[in-house]
Amino acid sequence: MMPAMKTPIAIALHGGAGVLTRAKIDNSAEREYRTALQAALDLGWEMLCAGGSSLDAVEAVTRNLEDCPLFNAGRGSVYTSAGTHEMDASIMCGRKGQAGAVAAVSRIRNPVSLARLVMEQSGAVLLCGEGAEAFARECGIVPTASRYFHTDARREQLETARRMGRVSVDHDEMQEKYGTVGAAALDAAGNLAAATSTGGMTNKRPGRIGDSPVPGAGTFADNTTCAVSCTGEGEAFLRCCAAHEVSARMRHGGADLATAAEMVIHTVLPGKGGLVAVDRSGAVALPFNTEGMFRAWRSSSGTDGVAIYGEA
Ligand code: ASP
Repeated sequence: MMPAMKTPIAIALHGGAGVLTRAKIDNSAEREYRTALQAALDLGWEMLCAGGSSLDAVEAVTRNLEDCPLFNAGRGSVYTSAGTHEMDASIMCGRKGQAGAVAAVSRIRNPVSLARLVMEQSGAVLLCGEGAEAFARECGIVPTASRYFHTDARREQLETARRMGRVSVDHDEMQEKYGTVGAAALDAAGNLAAATSTGGMTNKRPGRIGDSPVPGAGTFADNTTCAVSCTGEGEAFLRCCAAHEVSARMRHGGADLATAAEMVIHTVLPGKGGLVAVDRSGAVALPFNTEGMFRAWRSSSGTDGVAIYGEA
C-alpha cells in the first residue's frame, strides 16, 4: 500500500533488456525473476519510505541484484574470452553531481559499493582493474575468490559464444540468461541518484569496458532533471552518451521525462537496449527497444509494477 506522502518518492530498477519473450522463459524461471525483482523493489521502496536517501536506496537495490545469480552482475556475471570475470559498475549522486565507478574488477563481490567508495573517498571518478582492487583493499574490502562468480549457465554461454566466434550482449538471441542491473530513485528530500552494475558481454575481449561504469553513458543523475540507469549494447550507449542525453533533452529542450527517455531509446540510440529513469516529480520512465526488459518500479504517485515483456 502507498503511504500518504508530502513529497514524492519513486524508484525504478532493471535487470537487463533483450530478447525476452514468453517462449524463451518458462513459468518457473519467470517466477524466479519476478520474485527477485519484487524483492529488490520492496527493499528500495522501504528505504525511501523510511526517509532513506536515494543514494543508499540505489546502492542497496543494485547490491541485492548483484548478489542474485540470475542477473549478469556480481555473482552470475558473464565470462570474458579468457574465462575470467571483469565487472563494471557506477553510481551517481544528483544532489552533488558526484560520480564514482569501477571497471574490469575481478575479485569484488559488490562492485557498486566499491564505486560508491571511489566517489566518496578516492578523489577519482573511475578506477579500473588492479588499481581499483588495491583501493578496495585499502578500504578494507576482502577480495572474493573467483569461484564465487562462477555459474554453470554463464560457463555454458561462454562455450556457445566461443563456438560461434561471437561476443554477445547478455540479452542476445543465443542467450538464455539475462541481466545487467541498475536503479534510479528519488528520495523524500528531493534528491535523485542512479546506479548500474554489470559483468559486461559474454566472450568479451579482456579489458573491454562498456557503458555501465561510465557516468553520462550508462548512469546519470542530476537533481534538476532526472536519474537514469541503462542496459544494452554498451558501445551504442557510449557513443551517444545515452543517460546524459535524457537529462540534456529535459534541461535544454524542456522535454518531460517520458518524452526524453523514449526519444533516446527509440531514435537516438544506435543499438539495442533500454533504461529506467525517475525525475524530480516522481515520474518514472522505462523505455526499451528490445523484446523485453526485466524491470520494476513504484512511485508515490501510485504507479507500481514488475514486468518482463513488452506489456505496459
Ligand atoms: N551495457 C552492458 C555492457 O555493454 C551490457 C548490458 O547492459 O547487458 O557492458
